[in-house]
Amino acid sequence: MNSLRGIFQVILRFRPRQQAMSTSTIDITPEPTVPEAKELIAELCRNFYSWGWVSGTGGGISVKAEDKIVMAPSGVMKERMQPKDMFVLDHDGQILEEPALRKDGTKLKLSECSPLFMSAYKMRGAGAVMHSHSMNAILATMIDPTASEFRVTDLEMIKGIIGHSFYGGCIVPIIENTARECELTERLQAAIKLYPDANAVLVRRHGVYVWGPDWVKAKTQAECYDYLFEAAVKMRQMGIDASVAPEQHIDPDHIITLANNPDARCTVASDNGHVAKKAKTTSRTPKCVVLDIEGTVAPVSFVADVLFPYAREHTRPYLWDTFLSKETTLDILLLRGQAGQDLTDGTSSVKIPNKWKTEIVEGCVAYVHEQMDKDRKSTALKNLQGHVWREGYKSGKLKGELYGDLKPALDAWSRKGIKTYIYSSGSREAQHLIFTYSNLGDLRNQLCGYFDTTSGSKLEPKSYTNIALSLGVDDPSEILFATDNVQEIIAAQTAGWGVVAVDRPGNKPLAELPQGVRTITSMLELLE
Ligand code: ZN
Repeated sequence: MNSLRGIFQVILRFRPRQQAMSTSTIDITPEPTVPEAKELIAELCRNFYSWGWVSGTGGGISVKAEDKIVMAPSGVMKERMQPKDMFVLDHDGQILEEPALRKDGTKLKLSECSPLFMSAYKMRGAGAVMHSHSMNAILATMIDPTASEFRVTDLEMIKGIIGHSFYGGCIVPIIENTARECELTERLQAAIKLYPDANAVLVRRHGVYVWGPDWVKAKTQAECYDYLFEAAVKMRQMGIDASVAPEQHIDPDHIITLANNPDARCTVASDNGHVAKKAKTTSRTPKCVVLDIEGTVAPVSFVADVLFPYAREHTRPYLWDTFLSKETTLDILLLRGQAGQDLTDGTSSVKIPNKWKTEIVEGCVAYVHEQMDKDRKSTALKNLQGHVWREGYKSGKLKGELYGDLKPALDAWSRKGIKTYIYSSGSREAQHLIFTYSNLGDLRNQLCGYFDTTSGSKLEPKSYTNIALSLGVDDPSEILFATDNVQEIIAAQTAGWGVVAVDRPGNKPLAELPQGVRTITSMLELLE
């Protein structure tokens, strides 16, 4: 037993990493005996506890030994687990050997994870299965709260995952949690079937199940996966998407070709999206996609028939309910200032009083309705509308209506390393809300930024030049803009952007387009 402990200590100290390999070529550590496995699980539990993976009796570990499964019980502090506390099960998960009774004479309970562990033994021929409640794992499931996969690429530690390499990326399926752990079994089995390359399954807001062909590899897989989860979460905090390959990954052979043959630039650039910098065909391999909203990714009717009537109808109850809040106090001050200005200019006859709640609210409502009737777009009006919509989205009364092709298109662009931005006349706050609370789910993760008319009018070429500077592209032709407005197309094209016209049902017929501008009817056609 001492020699086994020595092996653990070496392994725990150095945390070995494997190189990329397939399960058919890797060395398998011989199965421990049942007593060795009991000892090993107790030791691993202490280590996992110290890493924060199994605090509060959560998580679990099981190891195959002498063709049986040795498994930690539930409800026992992992850091105090003893070899005598372990269950021994047969291949079907039936108990062969119960652990010793507690000091008070009560029986220990088999972990609820047991059917889940058995799934990995049966479906993957695992030699050990581990379940951690690591903070990194649960946060990784929330990078995109609607995603069914965790993705990461271009990180050295991916090589530690069996069958994976640095560039190929690594995907871990995410299943939704259930009230009881054993009820997860079906979902976990479905994920194991769907993702034959994955050696782990994440459970949203819960943790991760990881396995390997033997206990050593199960443990190193668990460590590598946890490292990748932590890296992706931290990269997200830095504004970096860990699922997208960085730009500078240029094939060294291509650099040599470029250096020796300057004429090769365009050919290489059009072959390889990563070096599209000087390409003349950037409208097909853009670095950034910028999208208009109304008539492009959202039906015109959503803004006209849903958003505006909502703001009109809900201004009064909103002001009434939030009257004393700091935000509403400021909104009212701004409206009163604008109304006073309009009164002086003779463009409005509404006065917003500064006494008595009822009178103030009614004055604001009359002014807002008048401004909306005149289609005025003052900052005061836009601010208040934005706040009314926000409450509507949060309460579930409003939902952003987007064309269904947007999500698969965003996914496809993101896989190609293309960043997507929005440029629309609605305020950035209002844009953000549409994509947060949309019929396609929360799309914030797939959008890198929002621009509104604070960057300038959508009809002015210099607004597009400003935005190109903000996006940090070397050349404006690296941006591809999609809109249903021909005037905007001309302005963006004048600024050197690539442009595509969008024709959607319910849009006004497109005016005559500049020569060579393509028309698309779905975002999936954008890069064709
Ligand atoms: Zn759990």
